[in-house]
Amino acid sequence: MAQHFDYITIGGGSGGIASANRAAMRGAKVAVIEAQHMGGTCVNVGCVPKKVMWHGSQVRDAIKLYAPDYGFDVEIKEFNWAKLVESREAYIGRIHQGYDKYLANNGVTVIKGFAKFIDNKTLEVNGEHYTADHILIAVGGRPSIPNIPGAEHGIDSNGFFQLAALPKRVAVIGAGYIAVELAGVLQGLGSETHLFVRKHAPLRTFEPLIVETLTDIMAKEGPELHTNATPSKVTKENDGSITLHLENGETHNVDTLIWAIGREPSTDKINIEATDVTLNERGFVKVDEYQNTTAKNIYAVGDIMEGGVELTPVAVKAGRLLSERLFNPELPDAKMDYSLIPTVVFSHPPIGTIGLTEAQAIEKFGAEQVKVYSSGFAAMYTAVTQHRQECKMKLVCIGENEKVVGLHGIGFSVDEMIQGFAVAMKMGATKADFDSVVAIHPTGSEEFVTMT
Ligand code: FAD
Ligand code: NDP
Repeated sequence: MAQHFDYITIGGGSGGIASANRAAMRGAKVAVIEAQHMGGTCVNVGCVPKKVMWHGSQVRDAIKLYAPDYGFDVEIKEFNWAKLVESREAYIGRIHQGYDKYLANNGVTVIKGFAKFIDNKTLEVNGEHYTADHILIAVGGRPSIPNIPGAEHGIDSNGFFQLAALPKRVAVIGAGYIAVELAGVLQGLGSETHLFVRKHAPLRTFEPLIVETLTDIMAKEGPELHTNATPSKVTKENDGSITLHLENGETHNVDTLIWAIGREPSTDKINIEATDVTLNERGFVKVDEYQNTTAKNIYAVGDIMEGGVELTPVAVKAGRLLSERLFNPELPDAKMDYSLIPTVVFSHPPIGTIGLTEAQAIEKFGAEQVKVYSSGFAAMYTAVTQHRQECKMKLVCIGENEKVVGLHGIGFSVDEMIQGFAVAMKMGATKADFDSVVAIHPTGSEEFVTMT
């Protein structure tokens, strides 16, 4: 006999846990099926351990680059990678405990194992059958590895979090968030780091002012950026080192090579063929604006949905709103608004961005409708030292009333500046609204409300 639930989420990651808890809070009988660790990518091999490593590299910067000019005579005697990893994993352990407690308090059943569809309403886990009135697919994704000879000699972002020691020389291949973040962390912690991008720059879709500033800072502080660098093969040498071969004939010998070239959805092993769910050619699930798949009462959120945004708070919000729609009679039309999603790249220094770039605004509204404001200064924290670091900001406005449709920044603490501006932009703020606010001085964020 199959055990029956009102709602089952396949995947106990960002989207699955959030949706399960909210459904249970609204009175549904809920189960979460998780094949590995609760918290999914974000908690175990994503946002959380990445941010810990990023903070670790900030600590080294503070001691090495900035402390002397603040009058501190300190030296780093030793950097203990294993200690940093231990602290990180202990922190993740506490997050796991928090999840277990919260799910238990909400009465959510946790089923450990790998789920496969039997049909539109039935799942199989470890030989047991489970049925549900509503099923959420929230199985997330995994790193892509290129199809070139010797690719297996590299590791991916999951492998980065398993490294037993800081590599002396490392090559990071890719041009997105993960490549930029991991390269920055490794450089910051003391590796000789090389970032290889196949086009002219990393983060190509970001506002050019931001990307140019990032590459200028990389040129001064590292990692060493290699542009127009497409890998052709990888070879392992007798001494255990790895050689990256590029299509342009160059070779680079390193100790560790990390692939960070994007992620693919984990929808290929759940026997989706047994359902009426439709995938696109890359395996992403087709959904409508209410997260409905093409199968009745099967839904999808998070990294596996077609046209989605691969960020934890996006999966969380979409999962919660879906549960409100399904199980809260007061919110029968609840749905996720995918516009103006703020996002931060934890690069060195961090990048924050909301909405359209200048080029996107011109394409959408016409050049005559677009007005931009920008600002550049050395962040005060760095400006009093010999390691001055630029902070650059840009506002993209449209129409006669100069509605702010894009906000971009790079520099010290930008990661903590932009959340509130996202609220203002969601409310339709104009440049005049920004200007009407009294600046907080002396901060970096005051630049966003004082641009002329
Ligand atoms: P996941 O969190 O991936 O969860 C899916 C879960 O489903 C997993 O636990 C998996 O084990 C489980 N599963 C898969 N198949 C099955 C099955 N058949 N049966 C049972 N369980 C199954 N986002 C941010 O917002 N900020 C960041 O700073 C950030 N940093 C990142 C850094 C890295 C290195 C990476 C890789 C990602 C980062 N992300 C970040 C992205 C973020 O992690 C994802 O967008 C988010 O985790 C997606 O949530 P999800 O619920 O779709 O999937
Ligand atoms: P992305 O899709 O962001 O970037 C991967 C990039 O690598 C591509 O855009 C492409 O850039 C380049 N690339 C693709 N294929 C190859 C190849 N064969 N060889 C060399 N380069 C290649 O993927 P990520 O893995 O960086 O991250 C996945 C997602 O996870 C992100 O998009 C983001 O949504 C999320 N994330 C969020 C973070 C945050 O919020 N701070 C942190 C980390 C991840 P190009 O075309 O320019 O070469």
